[in-house]
Amino acid sequence: MIVPYECRCGSSYAPTADRWRCDCGGLLDLPLGAVRWPRAEVRSMWRYLDAGDLPWRDITLGEGDTPLIEEDGGLHLKLEFASPTGSFKDRGAVVLVALAGALNASRLVADSSGNAGTAVAAYAARAGIAAEIFVPAGTSEKKLHQIRGHGAEVTVVEGSREDTAAAAAARVEESGAFYASHVYNPYFHEGTKTYALEIFEQLGGAVPATLVLPAGNGTLVLGAHRGFAELRAAGLIDRIPRIVAVQSELCAPLAEAWTAGRDEPEPVRPGRTVAEGIAIADPARGSRILAAVEDSRGTFVTVGEDEIAEAHAALAARGLWVEPTGAVSYAAVRRLRAEDSPLVIGGPIVAPLCGSGLKASL
Ligand SMILES: [Zn+2]
Repeated sequence: MIVPYECRCGSSYAPTADRWRCDCGGLLDLPLGAVRWPRAEVRSMWRYLDAGDLPWRDITLGEGDTPLIEEDGGLHLKLEFASPTGSFKDRGAVVLVALAGALNASRLVADSSGNAGTAVAAYAARAGIAAEIFVPAGTSEKKLHQIRGHGAEVTVVEGSREDTAAAAAARVEESGAFYASHVYNPYFHEGTKTYALEIFEQLGGAVPATLVLPAGNGTLVLGAHRGFAELRAAGLIDRIPRIVAVQSELCAPLAEAWTAGRDEPEPVRPGRTVAEGIAIADPARGSRILAAVEDSRGTFVTVGEDEIAEAHAALAARGLWVEPTGAVSYAAVRRLRAEDSPLVIGGPIVAPLCGSGLKASL
Protein backbone atom coordinates (compact mmCIF):
# COMPACT_ATOMS: atom_id res chain seq x y z
CA MET A 1 0.00 0.00 0.00
CA ILE A 2 2.97 2.34 0.40
CA VAL A 3 2.95 4.09 -2.98
CA PRO A 4 4.86 7.24 -3.94
CA TYR A 5 3.52 10.72 -3.28
CA GLU A 6 2.84 12.77 -6.42
CA CYS A 7 2.90 16.53 -6.98
CA ARG A 8 1.12 18.29 -9.83
CA CYS A 9 4.51 19.63 -10.98
CA GLY A 10 5.37 16.07 -12.03
CA SER A 11 7.66 15.16 -9.11
CA SER A 12 7.09 12.00 -7.11
CA TYR A 13 8.63 10.81 -3.86
CA ALA A 14 8.82 7.50 -2.06
CA PRO A 15 7.43 8.31 1.41
CA THR A 16 10.06 9.08 4.05
CA ALA A 17 9.55 10.28 7.61
CA ASP A 18 10.57 13.87 6.81
CA ARG A 19 8.67 14.36 3.51
CA TRP A 20 5.39 16.27 3.75
CA ARG A 21 5.35 18.56 0.72
CA CYS A 22 6.98 18.85 -2.66
CA ASP A 23 10.29 20.66 -3.13
CA CYS A 24 8.27 23.10 -5.30
CA GLY A 25 6.08 23.84 -2.27
CA GLY A 26 3.09 22.00 -3.76
CA LEU A 27 0.75 19.60 -2.01
CA LEU A 28 1.36 15.87 -2.24
CA ASP A 29 -1.37 13.57 -3.56
CA LEU A 30 -1.73 9.85 -4.17
CA PRO A 31 -2.99 8.23 -7.39
CA LEU A 32 -6.38 6.51 -7.22
CA GLY A 33 -5.98 2.99 -5.88
CA ALA A 34 -7.59 -0.24 -6.95
CA VAL A 35 -10.65 -1.22 -4.93
CA ARG A 36 -10.16 -4.59 -3.30
CA TRP A 37 -12.91 -6.99 -2.43
CA PRO A 38 -13.59 -6.69 1.33
CA ARG A 39 -11.77 -9.25 3.43
CA ALA A 40 -14.57 -10.99 5.25
CA GLU A 41 -12.36 -11.95 8.21
CA VAL A 42 -11.59 -8.32 9.16
CA ARG A 43 -14.43 -6.44 10.90
CA SER A 44 -12.99 -2.93 10.64
CA MET A 45 -12.11 -0.41 7.94
CA TRP A 46 -9.00 -2.45 7.18
CA ARG A 47 -11.17 -4.94 5.30
CA TYR A 48 -11.08 -2.48 2.37
CA LEU A 49 -7.36 -1.61 2.33
CA ASP A 50 -4.42 -3.37 0.79
CA ALA A 51 -2.25 -2.75 3.82
CA GLY A 52 0.35 -5.49 3.56
CA ASP A 53 3.34 -3.26 4.30
CA LEU A 54 1.73 -1.19 7.08
CA PRO A 55 2.00 -2.47 10.68
CA TRP A 56 -1.68 -1.74 11.32
CA ARG A 57 -2.42 -4.93 13.21
CA ASP A 58 -0.24 -3.71 16.10
CA ILE A 59 -2.15 -0.48 16.59
CA THR A 60 -5.71 -0.94 15.32
CA LEU A 61 -8.58 -0.21 17.69
CA GLY A 62 -11.12 -1.72 15.32
CA GLU A 63 -11.84 1.68 13.72
CA GLY A 64 -14.50 1.91 11.03
CA ASP A 65 -17.46 -0.47 10.89
CA THR A 66 -19.65 2.27 12.37
CA PRO A 67 -23.45 1.87 12.42
CA LEU A 68 -25.57 3.18 9.53
CA ILE A 69 -29.07 3.77 10.85
CA GLU A 70 -32.16 4.56 8.79
CA GLU A 71 -34.22 7.55 9.80
CA ASP A 72 -37.24 8.94 7.97
CA GLY A 73 -37.56 9.86 4.30
CA GLY A 74 -34.59 7.93 2.94
CA LEU A 75 -32.13 9.53 5.35
CA HIS A 76 -29.37 7.33 6.77
CA LEU A 77 -27.14 8.58 9.58
CA LYS A 78 -23.66 7.13 9.91
CA LEU A 79 -22.60 7.13 13.53
CA GLU A 80 -18.96 8.12 13.20
CA PHE A 81 -18.97 9.26 16.83
CA ALA A 82 -18.98 5.54 17.68
CA SER A 83 -15.33 5.42 16.53
CA PRO A 84 -12.73 4.36 19.14
CA THR A 85 -11.62 7.90 20.09
CA GLY A 86 -15.04 9.41 19.44
CA SER A 87 -14.67 10.82 15.93
CA PHE A 88 -14.27 9.82 12.27
CA LYS A 89 -10.70 11.12 12.36
CA ASP A 90 -9.64 7.67 13.61
CA ARG A 91 -9.96 6.41 10.03
CA GLY A 92 -7.20 8.69 8.78
CA ALA A 93 -5.12 8.87 11.96
CA VAL A 94 -4.57 5.12 12.18
CA VAL A 95 -3.24 5.07 8.60
CA LEU A 96 -0.85 7.98 9.28
CA VAL A 97 0.50 6.43 12.46
CA ALA A 98 0.88 3.05 10.76
CA LEU A 99 2.80 4.81 7.98
CA ALA A 100 5.00 6.56 10.57
CA GLY A 101 5.70 3.13 12.06
CA ALA A 102 6.57 1.65 8.68
CA LEU A 103 9.00 4.53 8.10
CA ASN A 104 10.62 3.92 11.53
CA ALA A 105 9.68 7.35 12.87
CA SER A 106 10.30 7.71 16.62
CA ARG A 107 8.52 11.07 16.92
CA LEU A 108 5.55 12.66 15.23
CA VAL A 109 3.93 16.06 15.18
CA ALA A 110 0.29 16.89 14.39
CA ASP A 111 -1.85 20.00 14.49
CA SER A 112 -5.57 19.93 14.94
CA SER A 113 -8.59 21.78 16.22
CA GLY A 114 -9.06 18.74 18.45
CA ASN A 115 -10.40 15.50 17.03
CA ALA A 116 -7.52 14.69 14.68
CA GLY A 117 -5.14 15.47 17.53
CA THR A 118 -6.90 13.12 19.93
CA ALA A 119 -6.97 10.38 17.30
CA VAL A 120 -3.30 10.75 16.38
CA ALA A 121 -2.32 10.85 20.08
CA ALA A 122 -4.20 7.62 20.78
CA TYR A 123 -2.66 5.64 17.92
CA ALA A 124 0.81 7.09 18.54
CA ALA A 125 0.53 5.83 22.13
CA ARG A 126 -0.27 2.34 20.86
CA ALA A 127 2.59 2.49 18.36
CA GLY A 128 5.10 3.66 20.99
CA ILE A 129 5.81 6.82 18.98
CA ALA A 130 6.29 10.09 20.90
CA ALA A 131 3.65 12.64 19.87
CA GLU A 132 3.52 16.43 19.97
CA ILE A 133 0.10 17.92 19.22
CA PHE A 134 -0.36 21.62 18.37
CA VAL A 135 -3.85 23.02 19.00
CA PRO A 136 -5.34 26.50 18.63
CA ALA A 137 -6.26 28.44 21.78
CA GLY A 138 -9.94 27.83 22.52
CA THR A 139 -9.86 24.08 21.82
CA SER A 140 -12.29 22.26 24.10
CA GLU A 141 -10.82 21.30 27.50
CA LYS A 142 -12.18 17.78 27.13
CA LYS A 143 -10.19 17.26 23.94
CA LEU A 144 -7.00 18.61 25.56
CA HIS A 145 -7.55 16.27 28.50
CA GLN A 146 -7.95 13.35 26.11
CA ILE A 147 -4.79 14.23 24.13
CA ARG A 148 -2.72 14.57 27.32
CA GLY A 149 -4.26 11.41 28.69
CA HIS A 150 -2.71 9.47 25.81
CA GLY A 151 0.70 10.81 26.78
CA ALA A 152 1.15 13.38 24.04
CA GLU A 153 2.76 16.75 24.61
CA VAL A 154 0.29 19.58 23.90
CA THR A 155 1.28 23.02 22.64
CA VAL A 156 -1.51 25.62 22.63
CA VAL A 157 -0.98 28.26 19.92
CA GLU A 158 -2.53 31.73 20.16
CA GLY A 159 -3.94 33.11 16.93
CA SER A 160 -5.70 31.44 14.04
CA ARG A 161 -5.97 27.79 13.08
CA GLU A 162 -3.46 28.60 10.32
CA ASP A 163 -0.99 29.93 12.94
CA THR A 164 -1.26 26.54 14.66
CA ALA A 165 -0.43 24.74 11.41
CA ALA A 166 2.54 27.04 10.82
CA ALA A 167 3.86 26.35 14.35
CA ALA A 168 3.55 22.59 13.80
CA ALA A 169 5.29 22.77 10.42
CA ALA A 170 8.14 24.79 11.96
CA ARG A 171 8.52 22.16 14.66
CA VAL A 172 8.61 19.41 12.02
CA GLU A 173 11.35 21.23 10.08
CA GLU A 174 13.44 21.76 13.21
CA SER A 175 13.01 18.27 14.73
CA GLY A 176 12.80 15.98 11.68
CA ALA A 177 9.69 14.37 13.18
CA PHE A 178 7.06 12.66 10.99
CA TYR A 179 4.34 15.20 10.22
CA ALA A 180 1.08 13.33 10.89
CA SER A 181 -0.92 16.05 9.17
CA HIS A 182 -4.51 15.33 8.19
CA VAL A 183 -4.22 18.21 5.73
CA TYR A 184 -0.82 17.71 4.10
CA ASN A 185 -0.40 13.94 4.19
CA PRO A 186 -2.63 12.34 1.53
CA TYR A 187 -2.50 8.97 3.28
CA PHE A 188 -5.08 10.42 5.66
CA HIS A 189 -7.58 10.18 2.79
CA GLU A 190 -6.72 6.51 2.32
CA GLY A 191 -8.31 6.11 5.74
CA THR A 192 -11.30 8.42 5.26
CA LYS A 193 -12.13 6.86 1.88
CA THR A 194 -13.25 3.76 3.78
CA TYR A 195 -16.25 5.86 4.88
CA ALA A 196 -17.50 5.58 1.29
CA LEU A 197 -16.60 1.92 0.78
CA GLU A 198 -18.34 1.01 4.02
CA ILE A 199 -21.54 2.83 3.02
CA PHE A 200 -21.50 1.05 -0.34
CA GLU A 201 -21.28 -2.30 1.41
CA GLN A 202 -23.80 -1.42 4.15
CA LEU A 203 -26.36 -0.37 1.52
CA GLY A 204 -25.93 -3.70 -0.22
CA GLY A 205 -24.10 -2.23 -3.21
CA ALA A 206 -26.47 0.71 -3.73
CA VAL A 207 -25.08 4.16 -4.46
CA PRO A 208 -26.53 6.92 -2.27
CA ALA A 209 -28.24 9.75 -4.14
CA THR A 210 -26.58 12.33 -1.93
CA LEU A 211 -23.83 12.48 0.67
CA VAL A 212 -24.14 15.42 3.06
CA LEU A 213 -20.71 16.09 4.54
CA PRO A 214 -19.20 18.76 6.80
CA ALA A 215 -16.31 20.65 5.20
CA GLY A 216 -13.46 22.46 6.92
CA ASN A 217 -10.18 21.02 5.71
CA GLY A 218 -12.28 18.59 3.69
CA THR A 219 -10.82 15.33 4.99
CA LEU A 220 -14.18 13.57 4.77
CA VAL A 221 -15.26 15.21 1.48
CA LEU A 222 -11.97 14.26 -0.17
CA GLY A 223 -11.94 10.77 1.34
CA ALA A 224 -15.58 10.01 0.47
CA HIS A 225 -15.10 11.31 -3.06
CA ARG A 226 -11.97 9.20 -3.42
CA GLY A 227 -13.77 6.06 -2.26
CA PHE A 228 -16.62 6.44 -4.73
CA ALA A 229 -14.23 7.53 -7.50
CA GLU A 230 -12.29 4.30 -6.99
CA LEU A 231 -15.52 2.29 -7.18
CA ARG A 232 -16.38 4.15 -10.40
CA ALA A 233 -12.90 3.54 -11.85
CA ALA A 234 -13.29 -0.16 -11.04
CA GLY A 235 -16.57 -0.26 -12.99
CA LEU A 236 -18.54 -1.26 -9.87
CA ILE A 237 -20.73 1.88 -10.08
CA ASP A 238 -21.51 4.21 -12.96
CA ARG A 239 -21.97 7.44 -10.99
CA ILE A 240 -20.85 8.85 -7.69
CA PRO A 241 -23.27 10.38 -5.17
CA ARG A 242 -23.85 14.11 -5.22
CA ILE A 243 -21.82 15.67 -2.41
CA VAL A 244 -23.43 18.47 -0.42
CA ALA A 245 -20.54 20.05 1.49
CA VAL A 246 -21.59 21.99 4.57
CA GLN A 247 -19.84 24.97 6.15
CA SER A 248 -20.68 27.29 9.02
CA GLU A 249 -22.04 30.66 7.90
CA LEU A 250 -19.40 32.23 10.14
CA CYS A 251 -16.50 30.53 8.35
CA ALA A 252 -17.32 29.63 4.76
CA PRO A 253 -14.38 30.24 2.39
CA LEU A 254 -15.27 27.23 0.24
CA ALA A 255 -18.97 28.04 -0.04
CA GLU A 256 -18.08 31.62 -0.96
CA ALA A 257 -15.69 30.45 -3.69
CA TRP A 258 -18.34 28.04 -5.00
CA THR A 259 -20.97 30.76 -5.20
CA ALA A 260 -18.54 33.11 -6.91
CA GLY A 261 -17.52 30.43 -9.42
CA ARG A 262 -13.87 30.45 -8.31
CA ASP A 263 -11.80 27.27 -8.28
CA GLU A 264 -9.66 28.40 -5.32
CA PRO A 265 -10.96 29.73 -1.99
CA GLU A 266 -9.80 33.07 -0.63
CA PRO A 267 -9.01 33.24 3.10
CA VAL A 268 -11.80 34.65 5.27
CA ARG A 269 -11.86 36.26 8.70
CA PRO A 270 -13.81 33.66 10.67
CA GLY A 271 -16.49 34.50 13.19
CA ARG A 272 -16.76 32.49 16.39
CA THR A 273 -18.85 29.44 15.48
CA VAL A 274 -19.88 26.54 17.71
CA ALA A 275 -18.75 24.32 14.80
CA GLU A 276 -15.09 24.64 15.84
CA GLY A 277 -14.14 21.45 13.99
CA ILE A 278 -14.80 23.00 10.56
CA ALA A 279 -13.76 26.60 11.29
CA ILE A 280 -10.95 26.63 8.72
CA ALA A 281 -10.40 30.09 7.24
CA ASP A 282 -7.85 29.09 4.59
CA PRO A 283 -8.14 25.39 3.69
CA ALA A 284 -4.90 24.19 2.09
CA ARG A 285 -6.69 21.66 -0.12
CA GLY A 286 -9.45 24.09 -1.05
CA SER A 287 -9.15 23.72 -4.82
CA ARG A 288 -9.32 19.94 -4.53
CA ILE A 289 -12.42 20.11 -2.30
CA LEU A 290 -14.18 22.40 -4.79
CA ALA A 291 -13.23 20.06 -7.65
CA ALA A 292 -14.52 16.99 -5.78
CA VAL A 293 -17.90 18.62 -5.16
CA GLU A 294 -18.08 19.71 -8.79
CA ASP A 295 -17.18 16.22 -10.06
CA SER A 296 -20.04 14.84 -7.96
CA ARG A 297 -22.53 17.40 -9.40
CA GLY A 298 -23.08 18.53 -5.82
CA THR A 299 -23.13 21.87 -4.08
CA PHE A 300 -22.21 23.81 -0.94
CA VAL A 301 -24.57 24.80 1.85
CA THR A 302 -23.92 27.07 4.82
CA VAL A 303 -25.75 26.73 8.13
CA GLY A 304 -26.22 29.29 10.90
CA GLU A 305 -25.58 28.98 14.62
CA ASP A 306 -29.29 28.65 15.41
CA GLU A 307 -29.72 25.91 12.82
CA ILE A 308 -26.78 23.99 14.29
CA ALA A 309 -28.24 24.30 17.80
CA GLU A 310 -31.69 23.18 16.60
CA ALA A 311 -30.21 20.20 14.75
CA HIS A 312 -28.17 19.30 17.83
CA ALA A 313 -31.33 19.33 19.97
CA ALA A 314 -33.32 17.36 17.37
CA LEU A 315 -30.64 14.68 17.31
CA ALA A 316 -30.54 14.52 21.10
CA ALA A 317 -34.33 14.07 21.07
CA ARG A 318 -33.72 11.03 18.84
CA GLY A 319 -31.14 9.55 21.24
CA LEU A 320 -28.06 10.85 19.43
CA TRP A 321 -25.52 12.91 21.39
CA VAL A 322 -22.99 14.67 19.18
CA GLU A 323 -20.60 17.57 19.51
CA PRO A 324 -21.84 20.83 17.91
CA THR A 325 -19.71 20.33 14.77
CA GLY A 326 -21.22 16.85 14.52
CA ALA A 327 -24.67 18.38 14.02
CA VAL A 328 -23.88 20.52 10.95
CA SER A 329 -24.59 17.86 8.35
CA TYR A 330 -27.96 17.13 9.94
CA ALA A 331 -28.66 20.88 10.08
CA ALA A 332 -28.06 21.01 6.32
CA VAL A 333 -30.41 18.09 5.71
CA ARG A 334 -33.13 19.88 7.68
CA ARG A 335 -32.56 23.10 5.72
CA LEU A 336 -32.63 21.34 2.33
CA ARG A 337 -35.81 19.52 3.30
CA ALA A 338 -37.44 22.79 4.35
CA GLU A 339 -36.56 24.14 0.89
CA ASP A 340 -37.88 20.98 -0.86
CA SER A 341 -34.47 20.60 -2.46
CA PRO A 342 -34.25 17.69 -4.93
CA LEU A 343 -30.92 16.87 -3.29
CA VAL A 344 -32.73 15.31 -0.32
CA ILE A 345 -35.75 13.80 -2.02
CA GLY A 346 -35.68 10.09 -2.70
CA GLY A 347 -32.58 8.46 -1.41
CA PRO A 348 -30.62 7.06 0.09
CA ILE A 349 -29.30 10.28 1.62
CA VAL A 350 -26.35 9.65 3.94
CA ALA A 351 -25.09 12.11 6.55
CA PRO A 352 -22.41 11.44 9.17
CA LEU A 353 -22.55 12.33 12.83
CA CYS A 354 -18.83 12.97 13.12
CA GLY A 355 -17.91 13.55 16.75
CA SER A 356 -19.17 12.54 20.18
CA GLY A 357 -21.08 14.96 22.41
CA LEU A 358 -18.81 13.81 25.24
CA LYS A 359 -15.98 15.83 23.60
CA ALA A 360 -17.54 19.29 23.48
CA SER A 361 -20.83 20.97 24.37
CA LEU A 362 -22.84 23.83 22.99
ZN1 LIG B 1 5.89 19.92 -6.98
